Amino acid sequence: MSDDLILPPPPPPPEPCPICGKPPDLCLCADLTLERTRLQLLILQHPQEQDVELGTARLLSGQIEGALVKVGLSWPSLSKLLGRQADPKRWGVLFMGSKEEVAKVPRGGIAVMGRKDILPDSDLVLADLEGIVLIDGTWSQAKTLWWRNAWLLKLRRIVIHPDFRSAYGTIRKEPRRESVSTLEAGAFVFGKLEGDPGLQERLLEPFEELLKRWRNRRRRPAKVVPES
Ligand SMILES: [Zn+2]
Repeated sequence: MSDDLILPPPPPPPEPCPICGKPPDLCLCADLTLERTRLQLLILQHPQEQDVELGTARLLSGQIEGALVKVGLSWPSLSKLLGRQADPKRWGVLFMGSKEEVAKVPRGGIAVMGRKDILPDSDLVLADLEGIVLIDGTWSQAKTLWWRNAWLLKLRRIVIHPDFRSAYGTIRKEPRRESVSTLEAGAFVFGKLEGDPGLQERLLEPFEELLKRWRNRRRRPAKVVPES
């Protein structure tokens, strides 16, 4: 790409699509196929996670039947969020582990953390889960949601060690090498826990399409406005 490409100041953003949450030219609804999964999906989104263009939460929820996205800072309990009784012990929450924790999980693996280490019956606990909570936002927004919702501590804390790099590449600065987008993390977990090897790839497809369109849009040359 040339360095002298001058981008015009951004126009006011158009109304995002109510389903996939993207601006009209990036709408990916036609690419979203609903998957029926055993596990339920609940995404908690920080109200300031406003990356309408590159955010991935709704691309994931738009592919999992019955998935919920809740935008806010705090909620009283899992049951309140779901609108029904739920056993927090049978729900997992994916929260970025410390470097040391991630290192304990085999590469390409997923584990349940106890207070200090991976639970010895991690696999059994994972097999028994009813649903997964994902926290969507920047690292600091995710931390805020974590500390403001004490009920999350009652859930099983899941740590993943992805065996792939985020497709965001250099578009987004991630705090750590193993950081991946909400959709990539979710696709990884669902692929593993649903016992459907193709699921991860299918869930990732709309994200790849989004990045392709987003990059193409940026490559379009700026309109030349004749001087008067
Ligand atoms: Zn859409």
